[in-house]
Amino acid sequence: MSEIYDIAVIGAGAAGSMGVLRAVLNNKKTLVFKGSRATNKRSRAMWVRKVVNMPLMFDRKRAITESVDEVFDWIQEHEYFSQKLTTIEQEASNVEKLEDGKFKITDAEGQNTYTAKFVLLCTGIMDTQPEIQGSIKPILPYANKGDVDYCIRCDGHKVINKVSATIGHTKTAAWVAALLHERYNPPEMKIFLNGKEAEWKDDAELNELIRIYNIKVIAGDILSIKADENKAMQAFEVQEADSNIEENVEVAFPMLGQIAYNELAKQVGAEITDRGNVVTNEKGESTVANFYIAGDLRQGKKYQIYTSWDMAVDSVDDMDAKLRKEYRESAKSKALANK
Ligand SMILES: Cc1cc2nc3c(=O)[nH]c(=O)nc-3n(C[C@H](O)[C@H](O)[C@H](O)COP(=O)(O)OP(=O)(O)OC[C@H]3O[C@@H](n4cnc5c(N)ncnc54)[C@H](O)[C@@H]3O)c2cc1C
Repeated sequence: MSEIYDIAVIGAGAAGSMGVLRAVLNNKKTLVFKGSRATNKRSRAMWVRKVVNMPLMFDRKRAITESVDEVFDWIQEHEYFSQKLTTIEQEASNVEKLEDGKFKITDAEGQNTYTAKFVLLCTGIMDTQPEIQGSIKPILPYANKGDVDYCIRCDGHKVINKVSATIGHTKTAAWVAALLHERYNPPEMKIFLNGKEAEWKDDAELNELIRIYNIKVIAGDILSIKADENKAMQAFEVQEADSNIEENVEVAFPMLGQIAYNELAKQVGAEITDRGNVVTNEKGESTVANFYIAGDLRQGKKYQIYTSWDMAVDSVDDMDAKLRKEYRESAKSKALANK
């Protein structure tokens, strides 16, 4: 008979690495799909550089990937725990719930399948990038450098003393511009609609805030990004009615929504919100029994490293409680039979 794992963790970013660590420390037979170069590249984990909103993370160049490596190294160095863990260095391509309630998980090549009693899905989300002349490529070097940011709670403070902007036509883009003004009062605050119609056109409160906070709304398409000699972002070239203009901007936050990596949750029939997050109970169990979600993919949580860690621990402990209950019931029945 093929091996049956207690817990299969899919994804090894912030949530997945903590899920794996908790599972082996709880003495569970654990399987992890760490993902591939392609899934890593499109994950948020890969874009997080220095973290300043968490103790013990300040000095990391690549905060999440470094901590993930440390988790797996530590497990490898401890024979007892390393024997508890099977690592698949690729992505999971399919999850199916079997009639007996277990899950069958297929690897990326479709060659191998694995069976687990519980699944913890930690595949995350990605922020939607603004298109410049039909491509997201022009923004990427600035995202890499940290002049373009995506998380207000992580990087909002960067607008202090900087000409700042949000990019987007969504109400969120306008609310975030207002928040950054209220919290940090940067010298200038702008919103780049990038050729789209503002969604707050009929929202009296937002229109009033934009007016009284002196937030400049720039309508035209962004054509290019200008940098100084140190490659720091300086300005956006924008198409206006008659001619192109240059608008200074040193820090920008795209606010265009998200791409949720929820395919595997959809495959098992879990309920998904309009934004693509997976609906769960407070322990992270989705509407499919024993199929859990941790990290940014879970509905209604802060998108942060420490919340991802906490979610993973709550979920794995809940699985552990169910497994121990099974063990307890079986121990009691055996004791009764032996009386
Ligand atoms: C630019 C930026 C800066 C940030 N800064 C901070 C900060 O300073 N502080 C903070 O607390 N938070 C920060 N965050 C938020 C933080 O990155 C996320 O909250 C956190 O990474 C979410 O963890 P996660 O496990 O859900 O997803 P991720 O960490 O993104 O991990 C997802 C993992 O799933 C894997 N994967 C995807 N699909 C599959 C598949 N089919 N099979 C197997 N594996 C798969 C990927 O390869 C990846 O390893 C920042 C985010 C961004 C974008």
